[in-house]
Amino acid sequence: MIIQQNKPLKAYNTFGIETTAEYFTELKHLDTLHEIAADETLPKRKVVLGGGSNILLTKPVTGLVIHNSLKGIFIKEENEQHVWVEVMAGEVWHEFVQYALTNHLSGIENLALIPGRVGAAPMQNIGAYGVEVKDTIDQVTAWHWAEKRFIVLRNEDCDFGYRESIFKHLLKDKVLITAVTFRLNKRPTLHLEYGAIQAQLETMGVSSPSIKSVAEAVMAIRRSKLPDPAMIGNAGSFFKNPTISKQQFDLLKAQFHDMPSYPVAHDQVKVPAGWLIEQLGWKGIRRHDAGVHVKQALVLVNYGKASGSEIQSLALEIIKSVQSKFDILLSMEVNIW
Ligand code: FAD
Ligand code: NAP
Repeated sequence: MIIQQNKPLKAYNTFGIETTAEYFTELKHLDTLHEIAADETLPKRKVVLGGGSNILLTKPVTGLVIHNSLKGIFIKEENEQHVWVEVMAGEVWHEFVQYALTNHLSGIENLALIPGRVGAAPMQNIGAYGVEVKDTIDQVTAWHWAEKRFIVLRNEDCDFGYRESIFKHLLKDKVLITAVTFRLNKRPTLHLEYGAIQAQLETMGVSSPSIKSVAEAVMAIRRSKLPDPAMIGNAGSFFKNPTISKQQFDLLKAQFHDMPSYPVAHDQVKVPAGWLIEQLGWKGIRRHDAGVHVKQALVLVNYGKASGSEIQSLALEIIKSVQSKFDILLSMEVNIW
């Protein structure tokens, strides 16, 4: 185990924020977890870092930052319909999607090109284009820091919700996810209900889609709409889409006729946060090097030298303005460190 001190983190977060980790180590072997847990000279605070695509670094990180680089993909079991695949948490998410496509396994094709590593996928139950990862997760294996042992959580133990899980709440900072077992389908059930996918497949001239063409459609849409962190620092959607009561929505709709919504439950609707932010004129705004992306109001960006706290201040201003205009409280999807 190699421990580094005052490690620069700019290359480890997609916002490209310049700050440091007090202590830093690469986690390549499961045994190292016992070593870290037994070493009394290491700080008590342990922070897990994956691809750094869902964090905002607002200050130097105290404690030990553990960069998850556990690798491996193993087929655990299969039957006529399904294959259970265990994936180590340090695998790159999109590379696992490509593995599934190559092996004709369906379930995660709509989640193509989401940045980050497999270990963070259960964390916020990653989702896109009408699919959430929870529907393919069989179980999650994690190292429990206080108990100094591995624990296994079945899907139903993970409290998955819209961009939510037990790992963001009860188990926050208490465990390090080491592996995720997915149950993928041999016979595809395609999810094409998300309008943009249908339109893109038509543009591509695809009349009978496969998991591969759906993934290609998703990738084409994402490349055309979303800022590439390699070109401009960002962490994807900064805010979650809020869910409000149908009653509140009806009152707002009477005032703002073109307010979009998607049903969540019989008395609740989801309102796109990007629409609310755009209505207030935030899209494309720039404060020094912190800004709101010109094409996508839900994405905050770092034009170069913005600090994490400048981006956080901009986010708080946006939350305040949305609340005062629409009486809707936005919550941040990005993890503030
Ligand atoms: P990190 O940013 O490294 O970590 C995120 C949080 O998870 C941190 O709190 C960290 O401590 C914790 N964590 C990470 N790994 C572990 C582990 N092994 N054990 C315990 N805790 C851990 N998200 C979506 O849901 N859908 C999208 O479509 C989507 N599109 C995006 C597009 C862009 C351009 C970008 C930049 C981001 C996008 N995201 C999206 C957000 C992000 O990619 C996902 O949330 C991703 O799962 C984060 O993975 P990561 O490895 O980068 O996590
Ligand atoms: P979009 O297609 O412009 O749609 C705006 C919002 O409306 C989305 O956030 C989506 O909510 C909702 N929506 C649209 N069509 C829907 C439908 N048929 N059913 C239910 N909800 C619908 O969104 P976008 O920004 O380009 O993103 C496309 C997809 O990629 C979305 O699923 C989004 O969540 C995902 N994405 C996520 C991140 C991230 O960092 N979390 C970043 C980029 C893209 P949902 O978000 O609930 O799907």
